[in-house]
Amino acid sequence: MKDVLQFMDNLAEFLGSSEGQTIEEIRAELCAEMGEAQFLEAERKFLAFIEEQKSKLKNTHASDCAVHNEPAYPNGPCNCGMTGE
Ligand SMILES: [Zn+2]
Repeated sequence: MKDVLQFMDNLAEFLGSSEGQTIEEIRAELCAEMGEAQFLEAERKFLAFIEEQKSKLKNTHASDCAVHNEPAYPNGPCNCGMTGE
């Protein structure tokens, strides 16, 4: 969670000072600043966090939640964080 907040801080900072830059340029700068592995991990967590918040707002489960496993697999208990935290 801490790295997600740091990622958001860095992102906000870059967005604030990056008029005219594309998102790809901003990503490259963040990547250089944080280190690629850490950046990609933080970005992944950030996007997962956003998805989780969106599904909570809509009061629905994430599209990859186990409650949507069928028909490929039996449905399982929620694992997206919408319920049962
Ligand atoms: Zn769920």
